[in-house]
This record gives sequence, structure tokens and C-alpha cells, in this order.
Amino acid sequence: MDYMQKRSRRKFIYNLGMAGLGIPFLSAAANCDNESSKQQTMQSKKAKLGIALVGLGGYAGGQLAPALQQTEHCYLAGIVTGTPSKIPVWKEKYNIPDKNIYNYDNYDSIKDNPDIDIIYVVLPNNMHAEYTIRAAGAGKHVICEKPMAITVEDCDRMIAACNKANVHLSIGYRLHFEPYNLEMVRCGTKKIYGEIKKLGGGFGFVARPSQWRLTQKYAGGGPLMDLGIYVIQGMCYTTGMLPIAVTAQEGTKTDFERFKEVEQSLTWQFEFPNGLIAEGKTSYNDSHNFLHAEAEQGVFELTSAYNYTGQRGSTPAGVMNFPHINQQAKQMDGIAMAIRNNKKSIVPGEMGKRDVNYLQAVYEAMRTGKKIEIK
Ligand code: NAD
Repeated sequence: MDYMQKRSRRKFIYNLGMAGLGIPFLSAAANCDNESSKQQTMQSKKAKLGIALVGLGGYAGGQLAPALQQTEHCYLAGIVTGTPSKIPVWKEKYNIPDKNIYNYDNYDSIKDNPDIDIIYVVLPNNMHAEYTIRAAGAGKHVICEKPMAITVEDCDRMIAACNKANVHLSIGYRLHFEPYNLEMVRCGTKKIYGEIKKLGGGFGFVARPSQWRLTQKYAGGGPLMDLGIYVIQGMCYTTGMLPIAVTAQEGTKTDFERFKEVEQSLTWQFEFPNGLIAEGKTSYNDSHNFLHAEAEQGVFELTSAYNYTGQRGSTPAGVMNFPHINQQAKQMDGIAMAIRNNKKSIVPGEMGKRDVNYLQAVYEAMRTGKKIEIK
């Protein structure tokens, strides 16, 4: 019997995002003005929703644009860039018409462009709030990269702006669409192997990240903001629980020049409502990439958990063998379908805000050396 036969065949609807958040679905009937209902009708008629990428850096160019060549429900319709030299390259590679190319000054006029349904913000972390709020002001749905922002207050402003404009806001949490991570969700939340007794996760690599990632003002912190956030997510979606308290310790700093503003590495411990303590670690100087759960009837784990591809994992039923999909294509298609059907995203702004609150609690615990209760 292979893994798929051994594991329960029960289908599950993955709606963890909503479960812990108590988020009402966007109600078109309750909330819709004429203009947005007109837009929604137009969107439901379109074969594919048009996405404009804002910020044409490593992730937009290396992952999102190629993924948008494989999507079924959305396509790369436009770009927004502050670097004119990138325009001819992108135009040619992706066949983007001039009328769908914007810079940061004329960005707001995107409101008049019916080709663009969704704006995907892929800028440094501290710019997410401004460009999300301006996207909402232009009446466009938004996908915003992780971490949603660098403060909870910014997250609140982003959510309020999207609610006011009656547009959908999703966070670029690709692993909610990735089969190996979804198997961790199934095993953990359905208690397939009993209660989780021990949980740990780590994400880090030896990196020379671009300067903004090492600057507090732009990144809001170090590897925790960039990589540790995946571990926080993994702990929440594997347990189906939300942490109530945290302790944290900064790792030893060996490179004071590069890490003068942010941590080089960090460990933390989340306490969950049932008493489970989950151990997390993140680093720009050590390699970790795992999510490990020890349950009453055995271990289920990912030994390669957070990459764009190449996930590996096992459960007491054997080695996981799911297809390796294009995570970003699945993610953008999933979000586009939610928009088209006016269903709440499974990775909504409220989840992004929840996680920014956890990130800040981890930093507070690290700075103070105290156990911090999470509100
Ligand atoms: P990057 O440095 O490669 O690109 C950043 C882009 O922002 C560049 O095009 C740059 O020109 C532009 N930019 C505009 N104003 C800038 C300024 N003042 N300073 C620096 N750059 C400026 O970064 P990236 O790796 O593409 O990351 C962008 C966002 O995407 C980040 O929020 C990051 O956390 C997120 N990200 C997510 C994933 C994922 O797997 N979901 C992976 C990588 C990055």
C-alpha cells in the first residue's frame, strides 16, 4: 500500500485560516456599493483575472512572474516599477502592453485600468502598508507579501482600507496551498496520530541578504520577519491552535557589521492553550528547514518544509509522496478563485495581522527576557 492509500482518504476542507480567527466572510450583499458590484460582475465574466506586480525584485521576477505563466484563473497583466530599465525586459518577456505599465508616481491611476483586477505588493516590508492602502484606494483587490507589515497598526490600516473599498486582501502565504504542509495540517488538526506532545520548527540559511533585509526600518527585524514567520505559521496550522505566551532568546552574534540593526539568529518557545510548548528557531547564519511533530502514536514531520519546491516528509504511514506543484501558481489561482466567488481568502489580512502580532511578541520576549502573554 502506498502512502496515499495508507493515509485516511477522508477529504478535508482546509479552512484553518478562518477557524482561529473568527472572521466573517466578505458579504457582497451587506457591503457592496453599485460600483463594486459592477466590478464584481465584470470579474466574474472574465476568463482570467489580471494581476499587476508591484516591485520587480527577486521574488516577483524569480517566482511570481514565471508562476503566472502556469495559472488558470489569473495572469500577469501589468507591472509597477520604480526602475525604468526593467521595463523593456519585462515587456518583452511577458508581453505586457504599455498601458499596463506604471511607476510609483502614476500608480494610483491604475484605478482606471479594467485589465488590472488584483495588485500584488512585492516590495520591502515597510512599504507593504502604503502600497496596499493605495491599491485599495484604486478599488483593486490586493495580495500582499509576508510579513504583512512591520507593525500591527499598519495591518489595521491595511485591513480597514480594504474593507472600506470592499476589496479582498490576502497575504502571500504560499504554503497554505502546498500538499506536504497541508498534510501536516491534516495530521495535526485531525489528530490522526493523537495529540501532539512535542512540536518544533526551524527555518534559516547562511545568507547574505540584500541590505534592506538587514535594516530595521525596512524589514522590521531580521530572519524572524523573513524566515521565522514560516515557522510561526507552521506551528499554528499544524496544531490548529494559537499561542498564548512566548519566551525568546537572541542567538550569538558573530557578524556585528552585517547584523548591527537586526538579530542574526533567534530561538523562541510558544505556549499553546493546552500546555504544549513549541520550539522555534530562525537564522541568517545557520541552516534549518523543518517542522517536526511528535504525537501520541508517532512522529509526523517535514524535513524540508518551507522551500519553493522539494518538500520532503513522513508520518507513521510512511514517506509522503505528494506531487510537487508550483506553489505560487496554486496560491494565486486559489486567491483569484476566492475573489471571483466572493469567498473570504484562506490567507486573509486578519491572518497576516495575527502573525505580525506574534512577531512583535517574540521580539518583546527577546528584548525583555520575560515571558510575554499574547493578546
Ligand atoms: P528584493 O530586494 O529582491 O526586491 C524588492 C523590490 O522592491 C525591488 O524591485 C526594488 O527595486 C523595490 N524597491 C522599491 N523601493 C525600494 C527601496 N526603498 N528599497 C529597496 N527596494 C525597493 O526583495 P524580494 O526578495 O523580492 O522581497 C520582496 C517582498 O517579498 C518581501 O516582503 C519579502 O518578504 C517577500 N518575499 C516572499 C517570499 C515568499 O516565499 N512568499 C519570498 C521572497 C520574498
